[in-house]
Amino acid sequence: LSDLISLSLSYQIFIYFLGQKDEGLHHGSKSDYVSVCLLADESYQKLAIETMEELDWCLDQLETIQTYRSVSDMASNKFKRMLNRELTHLSEMSRSGNQVSEFISNTFLGKSCDFEFDVYAYLKIIESVSLTQDLENINKWGLNIFNVADHSHNRPLTCTMYTIFQERDLIRTFKIPTDTFVTFMLTLESHYHSDVAYHNSLHAADVAQSTHILLSTPALDAVFTDLEILAAIFAAAIHDVDHPGVSNQFLINTNSELALMYNDESVLENHHLAVGFKLLQVENCDIFQNLTKKQRQTLRRMVIDMVLATDMSKHMGLLADLKTMVETKKVTSSGVLLLDNYTDRMQVLRTMVHCADLSNPTKPLDLYRQWTDRIMDEFFHQGDRERERGMEISPMCDKHTASVERTQVGFIDYIVHPLWETWADLVHPDAQDILDTLEENRNWYQSMIPPSPSPPFYDEDEDEDEDGRAVSKFQFEMMLDDKDNQGSDTDSLQNYHEEPGREEMTMCDVSLPET
Ligand code: AMP
Ligand code: MG
Ligand code: ZN
Repeated sequence: LSDLISLSLSYQIFIYFLGQKDEGLHHGSKSDYVSVCLLADESYQKLAIETMEELDWCLDQLETIQTYRSVSDMASNKFKRMLNRELTHLSEMSRSGNQVSEFISNTFLGKSCDFEFDVYAYLKIIESVSLTQDLENINKWGLNIFNVADHSHNRPLTCTMYTIFQERDLIRTFKIPTDTFVTFMLTLESHYHSDVAYHNSLHAADVAQSTHILLSTPALDAVFTDLEILAAIFAAAIHDVDHPGVSNQFLINTNSELALMYNDESVLENHHLAVGFKLLQVENCDIFQNLTKKQRQTLRRMVIDMVLATDMSKHMGLLADLKTMVETKKVTSSGVLLLDNYTDRMQVLRTMVHCADLSNPTKPLDLYRQWTDRIMDEFFHQGDRERERGMEISPMCDKHTASVERTQVGFIDYIVHPLWETWADLVHPDAQDILDTLEENRNWYQSMIPPSPSPPFYDEDEDEDEDGRAVSKFQFEMMLDDKDNQGSDTDSLQNYHEEPGREEMTMCDVSLPET
């Protein structure tokens, strides 16, 4: 009886929502619909597609009648979903549109945690995107994540993660209910800020997919356990969640709540972890519910390790340790790295996620350039905020003086190339193509540096070596941790300094902010 009542009520909702789709689109016979489509202009087609999606939703609801939910709940969720969709369009139109959208969303939808996603509708979208050409390249370094975003209602992280988990059979291995997985991923994705130019869910999707590929590098074949693989991909997915679009230093300098909370230590990275784990507690979001207690503990420890290592102030320490590992590396007869203890495997995993985080310049140039536009946009936005507050403008954040091309050449020469070159040594010869692309991209940006006299900003410290390497004092947000400075690996740092032809990349070249 209750099934019948629900069925009848659901059907009424179904009819009611059909009534919402007015404006000339007939709901009559299929032939009516087809004739409308044939005659229709673009807007009619769009309306028709939307209506079909609504119909799909209604049918899904009928198929999976949720008797435990009141009709008013179902209707309320439906309205929230419709409003949310409109707000997504609004927020994509402009920054002010985004603000209006955020206001409406906060005021009328409650916190985004409370918002219930239409998981089944999204699952359909995800599955359809997974089948398209975009995600066919899931195992390739050149995957165009921007296209994935365009074809997935701007849910690149959810779609990419779903495809990776399917590809690796992680959903089955760890008994993750599909609806829980999708609900968690949509919730996680919604906690990335879509109005932040670079650190949004597209970057997270990119880092997750890059990590997925690095995990499959032949030199690491069968080295990692399923749990370690799960942890690395999960870490990549959450590693920048709720990023406000400003740096740790900005948060510290402005006495922000976050800096206060984390005592100025890896402020953002601590926050990403806290949010990432907190979201697992949202209803139907615990993707680790079927792991044993021990597995959950180990996974948590590994994820914390990897995400904290994405703090750029740890970069030099990571690189030094990697150098040491390369020099002492052992390989099996089949050429696979011998990593027979937890410490070594974790070191490789945390370096891997860090490499994925710094992989923009190793991607095909058309993708790399889009990332550059985004990060410079974010940096300049931070610079504007600093100017407004009368603060000193952070390096690379002043839109009036920064040079995009020089920034990229410096970033590659000082940070990205030394890291990737060492990674390539570790997994030799697997990363040769990546290294080649990196070098080509570096030369392209070098060739794009305008020949005109350098802007005054660079005059002071700038020089060029015989290869045209820009050796201006690039001030990346590279603080050397005291711990890293006094670290135990003095040997590896020594080796790093002594490497021929790399003198310009000693730690001293990276200007250190005064602490
Ligand atoms: P994350 O903030 O976690 O993404 O850490 C990576 C950091 O590396 C960024 O915050 C930037 O400071 C820097 N970075 C990454 N990609 C680029 C790029 N293409 N150009 C300049 N800096 C970059
Ligand atoms: Mg980060
Ligand atoms: Zn990142």
